[in-house]
Amino acid sequence: MRIDLHTHSSISDGTDTPAELVEHAARAGLDVVALSDHDTFDGLDDAVAAGERLGVEVVRGLELSCARQGDSVHLLAYGADPTSPALAEELARVRDGRQGRVAGVLAKLAALGVPVSEEAVMRQVGDSPSVGRPHIADALIEAGHVKDRTEAFDRYLFDGGPAHVARYALDLVDGVDLVHAAGGVAVIAHPWGRGREKTLPPELLAALAAEHGLDGIEVDHQDHDRDTRRRLRKLTSRLGLLATGSSDYHGTGKTDHDLGCNTTDPDVLAEIQARLVRNQLSQRATGV
Ligand code: AMP
Ligand code: ZN
Ligand code: FE
Ligand code: FE
Repeated sequence: MRIDLHTHSSISDGTDTPAELVEHAARAGLDVVALSDHDTFDGLDDAVAAGERLGVEVVRGLELSCARQGDSVHLLAYGADPTSPALAEELARVRDGRQGRVAGVLAKLAALGVPVSEEAVMRQVGDSPSVGRPHIADALIEAGHVKDRTEAFDRYLFDGGPAHVARYALDLVDGVDLVHAAGGVAVIAHPWGRGREKTLPPELLAALAAEHGLDGIEVDHQDHDRDTRRRLRKLTSRLGLLATGSSDYHGTGKTDHDLGCNTTDPDVLAEIQARLVRNQLSQRATGV
């Protein structure tokens, strides 16, 4: 059984529509794929419908933009209820922050001599309610300023880079609580990728596990080298956290993130699904 629990569609900053993504997952030999777009559930119904047609199990996911002491941290949520008012309200706030910072980034890019218009960015955004830096990167490519998203990030858009503008994100601890309140399972995405180890030291992960019931962390991810994966895996067994693995596929928007390049153990998926059933039963019992 091949399981990939972290992917993006054109409903955020991936390049496949949700249905295309599931078609590609089937072709890549995946049995289970989670669609986990940034800060929106909008692609899930199409992905699930495509999964039913193609015999691929689609897990309803989300990648929630959180922050810890000013550093960005991504939290994967599985099976969270999209109609949960508190979560829906927070997602709307995060998406507003995404839209609101575009003008600031474009002003910085113009000052750097690589202007693109807001219209050009919104053309790249297309159907996505969740505007991201990758869309701005795509507008820079279209204008001929850079050759690909990687160059756009490396030169201008990286965290703290010359065209970077901070945006609203909720505190990680509140994010974990919010996902649980919406009946979901919370897994921190690529916790130690891109220098995040200082942001998320073992003590913090231990406290999140013990005091907030954090469910797991993504261990096998392309942003983690072999040694990082080994150390994270050890930490998950010490803390009793689930260890997931996934591609973080973005279609043609990200190289070296092919569907199924990392996978999750079937026992881990079974435990995630068991927790979702338990969460739903306890919410029904408490009348939430
Ligand atoms: P944002 O959502 O606007 O904060 O932009 C961050 C997103 O950009 C991440 O979730 C990645 O999907 C993507 N990203 C970050 N670095 C790169 C890169 N070097 N090349 C392509 N995409 C990237
Ligand atoms: Zn992304
Ligand atoms: Fe991420
Ligand atoms: Fe992602």
